[in-house]
Amino acid sequence: MMNDNINVTEIFGADVFSDEVMRERLPKKIYQEIRRTIETGANMSQATADVVANAMKDWAVERGATHFTHWFQPLTGITAEKHDSFVTAPMYGRTLLEFSGKELIKGEADGSSFPSGGLRATFEARGYTAWDCTSPAFLKEDATGVILCIPTAFCAYTGEALDKKTPLLRSMEAISEQSVRILRLFGNTTSTRVTPSVGAEQEYFLVDREKYLQRKDLIYAGRTLFGAPAPKGQEMEDHYYGTIRERVGAYMKDLNIELWKLGIPAKTQHNEAAPAQHELAPIYEEANIAVDHNQLVMETMKKVATRHGLQCLLHEKPFAGVNGSGKHNNWSLTTDDGINMLNPGKTPHDNIQFLFVLACVIKAVDTHADLLRQSAAVVGNDQRLGGGEAPPAIISIFLGEQLEDVVKQLVETGEATSSIKGGQLDTGAHALPVLAKDANDRNRTSPFAFTGNKFEFRMVGASDSVASPNTVLNAIVAETFCEAADILEQAEDFDEAVHGLIKKYLKEHQRILFNGNGYTKAWVEEAERRGLPNIRSTVETAATLTTDKAVALFEKFGIFTRAELQSREEIMYETYTKTVNIEARTMIDMATKQIIPAVISYTTELAQSLNAVREACPEADVSVQKEILVEVSALLARAKVALTALKVTQAQGSLMEDGKDKAFYYRRSIVPAMEHLRTPVDELEMLVDKKFWPMPSYGDLIFEV
Ligand code: ADP
Ligand code: MG
Repeated sequence: MMNDNINVTEIFGADVFSDEVMRERLPKKIYQEIRRTIETGANMSQATADVVANAMKDWAVERGATHFTHWFQPLTGITAEKHDSFVTAPMYGRTLLEFSGKELIKGEADGSSFPSGGLRATFEARGYTAWDCTSPAFLKEDATGVILCIPTAFCAYTGEALDKKTPLLRSMEAISEQSVRILRLFGNTTSTRVTPSVGAEQEYFLVDREKYLQRKDLIYAGRTLFGAPAPKGQEMEDHYYGTIRERVGAYMKDLNIELWKLGIPAKTQHNEAAPAQHELAPIYEEANIAVDHNQLVMETMKKVATRHGLQCLLHEKPFAGVNGSGKHNNWSLTTDDGINMLNPGKTPHDNIQFLFVLACVIKAVDTHADLLRQSAAVVGNDQRLGGGEAPPAIISIFLGEQLEDVVKQLVETGEATSSIKGGQLDTGAHALPVLAKDANDRNRTSPFAFTGNKFEFRMVGASDSVASPNTVLNAIVAETFCEAADILEQAEDFDEAVHGLIKKYLKEHQRILFNGNGYTKAWVEEAERRGLPNIRSTVETAATLTTDKAVALFEKFGIFTRAELQSREEIMYETYTKTVNIEARTMIDMATKQIIPAVISYTTELAQSLNAVREACPEADVSVQKEILVEVSALLARAKVALTALKVTQAQGSLMEDGKDKAFYYRRSIVPAMEHLRTPVDELEMLVDKKFWPMPSYGDLIFEV
């Protein structure tokens, strides 16, 4: 064995100001008060905050911390931080290290430099960060030293949310309140809170950093904008679950250690379908913490990669022609006394509470399929969804054979009397154990699949925060629960009313159920017949945020105001435009300064060779050189025409006023112009002598890590 054994129990959570640390370090009364705040949202006194802040500082300083930061999640999709040291004004030339309750609870950040979608003008710069005590503070170590990070929400001077955490927390309150109403109706008197549990499986690519640095597209856009396919792709299916290479293994080991120190329960790691693609899955946690942790997972993946001379790519589609990366968002509802409301038990047909919850989720997802789709929309995901590798852009639900059968019974007769059993799996080899078989197989093509005791939303992009998908899930299910509870609380005969509602919801919303292959064209047509939305691109999803239906939903539960939704729609347009604009400009830059000059050098060499051979030996056959020269020159001319067209289109776009029209222009005019440039360039890459090609190829990038 190697001698650097890892003591996981010792390092796990070592960098977290955890519940355990609080219990150890805080006076009992203070600890109880903070627990109360975490659990019930009760206000915390200034005096208590001061004690907590001081304990936090002492703990952090003992571990080498020099600064603290309010760590937040603006609408850029990534996290933000501004460091303040604990240093106080010197007295007699000495300084004391201090951190007050006030500094812990509230921070001020110049909000005007973050996306606000018109909620604030630049001159109204005030933004506040507010301590979220439900997510533990932690230490982050990098070149700047050790920093105490305090998870916070970020809002404008006027109180509007400017981040992803605030609406998520609001949605968690809504789903908790409505879930408890449902539980009470079914006779539960013990649970007082319900929390969404979330496990986010994260896919990523690793490439050699030296090679990465030779590709401007990877540097500026996070994905390749040119690139001919390598001779081998993923067709042999030999990478998925394959043996992990040494260099990648060393990376994963280091990554796990860093994550465990942060209290992130990294659990599963494996190679994914595409060469150089991998996955990490943590154990699920409360939604808010899972969202924070997923941000830290992404950040840590990148940081650790650099240490290993690697670059971690989180883009949804870094390479054309092989699978892109997503994030499976596993979601369920757990009571404070440990009951999973999505647990069907062995015989779901007689588990009325489960069937009711299931029917409500089905109704919610069908009613708000557009919003759920929107919650997984980022520019990069446009290249992935519907590409025959990831779920289509159409939302549908996979239940599996057993539940589908139960639903069928309910819809047809209003009663379900049996559940298909799992049975046994006989491999036919006597030496192998007989395995108990699940009642359901899996369906990897479904965007929203029931997997045992949770739903798995598979549309989310690899680079995206999981805050929005979970905010939407919580909100839409809260709405259905609320509507049902309103009816059931008034019902004279509860059993009859519940059965009636289950049947009604399933009947009205069964169109969203689909157990077949979601990758096929036939499904796209079938979905259209069923009237299910198929929102193909990110720009088209933005408007779903401000429909009357969406505004009514979010305002009802105080999750978003209309103004907040409008600002988010605006931000989507802006982000879309900016992202595509960067991609277009990167392509122009690469084609102009690198690719065309390289091709010219190659044609020059060919021409020189042609002349030299002719001169040296007039009767020699030079048809090969000539043929290649003609072919390359023709493609070069095509590339130049496409480049000019892209330049013109991009220049026109950049003159437009920001907003919806501009975003749609980028989608409809610039994206195709980029494709037109890519095609001849990729063909050239297949013809031009490799020593002239100015950047590493797909093969170099994904097969030589
Ligand atoms: P599967 O094989 O069904 O994908 P895994 O056990 O590999 O299931 O889990 C995938 C992810 O789902 C993990 O992050 C896991 O912690 C999470 N998960 C498991 N059970 C639940 C649950 N009840 N609620 C939310 N997430 C869950
Ligand atoms: Mg999974």
